[in-house]
Amino acid sequence: MDVAELTAKYPLVKDLAALKEILWLNPDYGKDDPDLTLTQADLFDASARFERFAPYMAVAFPETAATNGILESPLRRLNAMQAHVTKREGYDLPGALYLKADNELPISGSIKSRGGIYEVLKIAEKVAMDHNMLVYGDNYAKLNEPAYHDLFSQYGIAVGSTGNLGLSIGIVAAKLGFNTTVHMSMDAKQWKKDTLRSVGVNVVEYDGSFTKAITTGRELAAKDPSVFFIDDEGSKDLFLGYGVSAIRLQKQLRDQNIPVDEDHPLFVYLPAGVGGSPGGTTFGLKKILGPNVHAIFAEPTHVPSVVLGMMTGMNDGISVYDIGLDGLTEADGLAVGRPSRLAGRVLKTLLMGIATFDDDRVMEYTAEMMDTEHMNLEPSATAGFAAMAESQAYLSDHFNMANATHIVWATGGMLVPQYEHDRNYKIGKALLDQGK
Ligand SMILES: *Cc1c(COP(=O)(O)O)cnc(C)c1O
Repeated sequence: MDVAELTAKYPLVKDLAALKEILWLNPDYGKDDPDLTLTQADLFDASARFERFAPYMAVAFPETAATNGILESPLRRLNAMQAHVTKREGYDLPGALYLKADNELPISGSIKSRGGIYEVLKIAEKVAMDHNMLVYGDNYAKLNEPAYHDLFSQYGIAVGSTGNLGLSIGIVAAKLGFNTTVHMSMDAKQWKKDTLRSVGVNVVEYDGSFTKAITTGRELAAKDPSVFFIDDEGSKDLFLGYGVSAIRLQKQLRDQNIPVDEDHPLFVYLPAGVGGSPGGTTFGLKKILGPNVHAIFAEPTHVPSVVLGMMTGMNDGISVYDIGLDGLTEADGLAVGRPSRLAGRVLKTLLMGIATFDDDRVMEYTAEMMDTEHMNLEPSATAGFAAMAESQAYLSDHFNMANATHIVWATGGMLVPQYEHDRNYKIGKALLDQGK
């Protein structure tokens, strides 16, 4: 692949290579997609599996007992942040701003509790059923008994992760009894590795990129038929686990009297790494809420992997390294240089656009979320605020925005140690002070 040829055909690639912030609008958005193989029935199947496992989750993870073993996050109104951030960045935001607080999701404190845990549960169900130790009508709380732990200990679960996916998969897989290995890139945070080791997970570290960690992990797992490899670069199950959030959000919107129709469009701003979590979420939202919900992703200027893949139509056939970028970012959940095999294809007609952002901005938003809303997010989790700021000029020209609803999807934060929050806050505050 020739970069000069690519930039001639797609002028925005030049801006990406120059680390400029861009807003890419998907030319195929809203068209029919005859190749879309995932369906609404797949979402309901995933949702039902979560419900079958809820009695198990409630006993194995007592922090989920209050919600009867269902893992869900609140939808929170952000009055103070809306007033503050729009003033500082100098733009109008008609309508109301909310936060989908996946930073509060039990177990991993991140959006990865959706996809990662879903795939582990699906594997556990299959193994138990293959051994005639489980039927669909059982109370799955029995999976917490020692006989199942013994059974699962004969199998392995492996995953490559920048951190949060490893946390969600590692914690649940190890609890069930699986021999669990998490392959991590060098840039993964030490506390994430420590947490995993403390619950008995085998953490393997790699110098170099996430792509190398996941590739090596996949190769090792392929040699051993008793090991299930959870593939962040192409798993349909991860995708569907994320998508179930849409069924839950639909009810939260109704319960909070937030309509979604042509006069009340809903805009959802999601951070993207490989594109799995925002992709699965967007797929779910479009299937459940229909044409008046619109998703826009946010990616670091140093790691615009999903937008590069979608814009050029090359999807996982191109990486940010191919256009000379270093793939490094403070937003460690987003440090993925190559998009998933699934995201670009599934999102071809479902995603409205993607904005890229400078790292400094997520540090600033992280500090501002603390100051205005007293919420501790990790920097990646605030990227949606950048996509929101960058898309309003376009949206006001194309939509009836007066009664719009905006949801910034906060993707992580709860398990981040306080010293890390303090460090991020300090960096963000210093940047804000400089900007004054
Ligand atoms: C993983 C992650 C994302 C992005 O998810 P992908 O599936 O990699 O696109 C965003 N924010 C946080 C905090 C994450 O851990």
